[in-house]
Amino acid sequence: MSYTKENIITRKFDVVIVGAGGSGLRAALELSRAGLSVASLSKVFPTRSHTVAAQGGVSASLGNMSEDNWHYHFYDTIKGSDWLGDQDAIEFMCREAPNVVIELEHFGMPFDRNPDGTIYQRPFGGHTANYGEKPVQRACAAADRTGHAMLHTLYQQNVKEKTNFFVEWMALDLIRDQDGDVVGVTAIELETGDLYILRAKAVLLATGGAGRIFAASTNAFINTGDGLGMAARAGIPLQDMEFWQFHPTGVAGAGVLLTEGCRGEGAVLRNSEGERFMERYAPTLKDLAPRDFVSRSMDQEIKEGRGCGPNKDYILMDMTHLGAETIRKRLPSVEEIGHNFANVDITKEPIPVVPTIHYQMGGIPTNINGQVVVKTASSYADVVHGLYAVGECSCVSVHGANRLGTNSLLDLLVFGKSAGKHIVQSVRNQHEHKPLPADAADRTLERLNRLQTSNSGIYSQEVANEIRQTMQHHAGVFRTQKGMDEGVVKINAIREKVGHVTLKDKSKVWNTARMEALEIDNLIEVAQATMTSAAARHECRGAHTVYDYEHPADHPEFPLGRNDKEWLKHTLWYSATNSLDYKPVNLKPLTVDSVPPKVRTF
Ligand SMILES: Cc1cc2nc3c(=O)[nH]c(=O)nc-3n(C[C@H](O)[C@H](O)[C@H](O)COP(=O)(O)OP(=O)(O)OC[C@H]3O[C@@H](n4cnc5c(N)ncnc54)[C@H](O)[C@@H]3O)c2cc1C
Repeated sequence: MSYTKENIITRKFDVVIVGAGGSGLRAALELSRAGLSVASLSKVFPTRSHTVAAQGGVSASLGNMSEDNWHYHFYDTIKGSDWLGDQDAIEFMCREAPNVVIELEHFGMPFDRNPDGTIYQRPFGGHTANYGEKPVQRACAAADRTGHAMLHTLYQQNVKEKTNFFVEWMALDLIRDQDGDVVGVTAIELETGDLYILRAKAVLLATGGAGRIFAASTNAFINTGDGLGMAARAGIPLQDMEFWQFHPTGVAGAGVLLTEGCRGEGAVLRNSEGERFMERYAPTLKDLAPRDFVSRSMDQEIKEGRGCGPNKDYILMDMTHLGAETIRKRLPSVEEIGHNFANVDITKEPIPVVPTIHYQMGGIPTNINGQVVVKTASSYADVVHGLYAVGECSCVSVHGANRLGTNSLLDLLVFGKSAGKHIVQSVRNQHEHKPLPADAADRTLERLNRLQTSNSGIYSQEVANEIRQTMQHHAGVFRTQKGMDEGVVKINAIREKVGHVTLKDKSKVWNTARMEALEIDNLIEVAQATMTSAAARHECRGAHTVYDYEHPADHPEFPLGRNDKEWLKHTLWYSATNSLDYKPVNLKPLTVDSVPPKVRTF
């Protein structure tokens, strides 16, 4: 069996959305409500998307439990981003936050409640009142199952509005015409193995993160960066891919996440001497400093020999003082995870944790309408017509070099909605679909048939493992220039192997081996983008910490090795040439004063 042009099936929709997590579903809702025909594709049933795993909360300056306003949220997000976030997008997101969260409440989201009926809010890392003075309660939560509640709420609203779901479908490539406009995608239906061209007036990528390029990750197995791979192969650069967030509290040895909500509720981190060491690193926010800060501090404790356990290689998170009643009410899943993944009763003893890969700050560059933008000779943000991206696969950029916890669920709601609105406006007046180019499916056919005709080579699982080990080893919490340079050479060599991936089982129906082999094409794009971008950035900023540039002796003025003079700029990585370019950070908000770069202490 081989795939040919003749056996491709073609369908037409107003809009195709690739991904049915929180961001894809929020956008789909806007479109279906406006009466457009929407195809929402997902590799898994929508409510199994990674958004379902989000635990801690969604941020909005509602001020239900402590004094708050969006200006504080705006300031915290910029400082959290280590000034790499674009201030126009950050203003847009923080101003919109209360609206989209109340709207979600009205969709039926089962938030926890205060005695007066308002939404319960807990403190979270890096979120403060009065510009860094003290922690604020800004994370709106449904126990420690906020993502679960949110994804189900959005799914149900979409069912009501009759969104068409294509469940267990895998999108493979973007189709761009001679003008560079996106006019559809190719996709495979996993149940039948049939290949489709889905034509659309607009395509929205909402494929989530790519945490699976690392060996130890809090991410779902489906998080293989497919949207990023599709964009990269279609000539669109990936932005700021060197910035990957390590979550301080993954269960040691298992990688499963324990939400920052634990520390929001009062948990503390201790070293082998029982010391609450965050008091030394961040005297004001302590355990609630942003994630890059806490992860680095934990790693430092371990490096200096104060790690816990027989190998002194983890830190303990202690929440025994919270009491079993609070834990069961506010953190029921965390208690379960403690039992299942660490054999620990968290109500009685501390639990071993280590920083674990969690979130990609970079992605497909967009503006605040979700439109994908590229740098041209005359513009830093030239729109690619017909293509949008939202959620973790996109980079708008509100998270800059380090995301604050709970700002991702917010980003899904704000930009899912704004992209949806923009698509409605632009598609409404477009009566005809643009014609398909003659080579619409050529790249996809080449990818599929390379696997179909291969008789020898390397299995996809081996390549995936090599990618994951390399990334884990060469792009960890603390990086070194030498380590990253070696990582670049290794990843480039692995890329060569990707062309020789072979498939033993070539059957058509429900062939998950084929799906995994196709995912490798995406993993390698993300991994190469990350290594190349990281090795080139000669400074420390946010989650990108390089030993060589920590407090450089010749530049004592650089806070923690951050070099604003040369590196206050976004990275752009191009797949075809494996090369880099840069564009400025937007320090100009929409209506308020800019927050100028300064030293980051907590
Ligand atoms: C364990 C965990 C806890 C978290 N907790 C929080 C939290 O408390 N607060 C917070 O703000 N953030 C949290 N985050 C981050 C946040 O949950 C994610 O960034 C966010 O949910 C991503 O949403 P998304 O819509 O971009 O993608 P996802 O929810 O990951 O959905 C991606 C969708 O794309 C589909 N897809 C992918 N590739 C293809 C393809 N080729 N073809 C078709 N479909 C495809 C998938 O099937 C899926 O439907 C957490 C993340 C993790 C991993």
